[in-house]
Amino acid sequence: MAESEEDRHLKFAGEFDCVPEPLPTLRHSTSHVMAQAVKRLFPEVKVSIGPAIEDGFYYDFLKPTPFTPEDLARIEEVMREIIEADLPFVREEMRREVAIRFFEERQEPFKVEILESIDADTVSLYRHGEFIDLCRGPHVPSTGAIKAFKLLSSSGAYWRGDERNPMLQRIYGTAWLTQEDLDRYLWRLEEARKRDHRKLGRELELFDFHDVAPGAAFWLPNGMTLVRELERFARESLDARGYQEISTPLLVNKKLWEQSGHWEHYQDNMFKVDVEGDVFSLKPMNCPESTYVYRRALRSYRDLPIRLSEMGRCHRNERSGTLAGLVRVRQFTQDDAHIYCRPDQLQGEITDLLELVREWYRTFGLQPSFRLATRPPQKLGAEQQWDQAEDALHQALRANGLAYDLDKGGGTFYGPKIDIDVEDSLGRPWQLATIQVDLTMLPERFECEYIDTDGQPKRPVVVHRAIFGSYERFVAILTEHFAGAFPTWLAPVQARVLPISEKHGEYARSVFGRLRAARLRVELDDRNEKLGYRVREAQLQKVPYVLVVGEREAQAGTASLRRRGGEDAGALPVERILGDLLGEVESRSATLNVGRSA
Ligand SMILES: [Zn+2]
Ligand SMILES: [Zn+2]
Repeated sequence: MAESEEDRHLKFAGEFDCVPEPLPTLRHSTSHVMAQAVKRLFPEVKVSIGPAIEDGFYYDFLKPTPFTPEDLARIEEVMREIIEADLPFVREEMRREVAIRFFEERQEPFKVEILESIDADTVSLYRHGEFIDLCRGPHVPSTGAIKAFKLLSSSGAYWRGDERNPMLQRIYGTAWLTQEDLDRYLWRLEEARKRDHRKLGRELELFDFHDVAPGAAFWLPNGMTLVRELERFARESLDARGYQEISTPLLVNKKLWEQSGHWEHYQDNMFKVDVEGDVFSLKPMNCPESTYVYRRALRSYRDLPIRLSEMGRCHRNERSGTLAGLVRVRQFTQDDAHIYCRPDQLQGEITDLLELVREWYRTFGLQPSFRLATRPPQKLGAEQQWDQAEDALHQALRANGLAYDLDKGGGTFYGPKIDIDVEDSLGRPWQLATIQVDLTMLPERFECEYIDTDGQPKRPVVVHRAIFGSYERFVAILTEHFAGAFPTWLAPVQARVLPISEKHGEYARSVFGRLRAARLRVELDDRNEKLGYRVREAQLQKVPYVLVVGEREAQAGTASLRRRGGEDAGALPVERILGDLLGEVESRSATLNVGRSA
């Protein structure tokens, strides 16, 4: 386990206060400079810790009132002066008791608390100018090495992340090696803000959240269209690969969870319900229940593999403070599957799965990367089982020609796994799919068997896998990835027909009727508004195609086609538009091609 940057500062975990690489060192140094500037402007504040984090840094201060945006601007100004002065970072060592007295005199209680809680004879301090901080470095040689930084925001944060402790004021900032890198990062941040799925979810009417059901989405018709299209995509693909779909109960007696081990290890995350004096729970996962479907018949080696897929609706009791849009929810639907196979079939199943994963992500233009996690020190099952399973995963990755990282010891206690991250259009990573091999958990605890060639009962291997992860999270990722401009096959509204004026209403209705009869998602906008206004509105709602019809179009049986983004494709026969649209939807094309010559 890598230490968190907070732990490095609070518990003196690891050797340094930040990873000794150029960017974390620069960011950690910038946090010191920021603290120095804050102390110059607000001498009464108390400093706590200032770690480097992903893409930046923060520093927490005890201050009775929050920092305002104007404060941040002033702090930045003072930071520039400090950088200009090019003050060297100077390391000093002190005995711990001396350091405690030193920070007591300077009235820095948080530093004293850290010093009292750590086990060290000698500690180091870093000084630049008048500012001195308890710190193990490393740092840049002098403040002048900081070239490109920006303060981003401030918010409240509890000391040591514990709500029983005092509330501190945290300032977030970012620092980069060059101005160019900083500019690119700020652009990405701005772009991510514009693409935030919570914002787009409201604007495009995809989903709502209400206080009456924290962490559970109210899907609106537009969002439900996305979910339905994704489900259709998944089902078509799985039907063609020999999966069988099941659906298992949401509310299950706690006996099941005692048998699976969830009651012992996971019950705090489960919603419990009293049913006629018995304790039931909403399922947090689908795994144990799938074994009831497997075990309902005597299985022979010839029956395997059995691939049971499930759109599994799960509930997990996440703390209300951690809920965030569709990314962190209490209710979600997994695109789950459990594959029961013989050990000799494992490699083939994983090979097929990896191919499936690549095919799915390619459809959405997401770049996957693969990580194989192998046996941890604490594990169940025989070494030889693990050898075989890990070997199968290596071979399957190689058979697909995939480069992959190795996470030694990162597997679960019941088997190795492959984790798959994707990179979206902004280059942000998301953890999506996992393919977990289960050598013992379901097979042993639920006594799954098949009769082998020698007539003896054997345990199957179970593969747990989800590719979207959950529909909720995947819709969030797609919304941000496409900035709400979904490919036509996913778009809630695929085309909108606009008569130029009332006179062309009848022809517009006939065009609309033809598209709708072909089961395209089409709308007619014949409101008494200016054409330009209605075109702009369709653009804002990111409708892929707008068909404008007037006198000339009615005469010729055509429509003037505009693609999303404003591109004018000119007048085309309605027949052609219809054919192209159906082809684009059918092929799940990522680009808008209607009306382009072949
Ligand atoms: Zn430091
Ligand atoms: Zn499972």
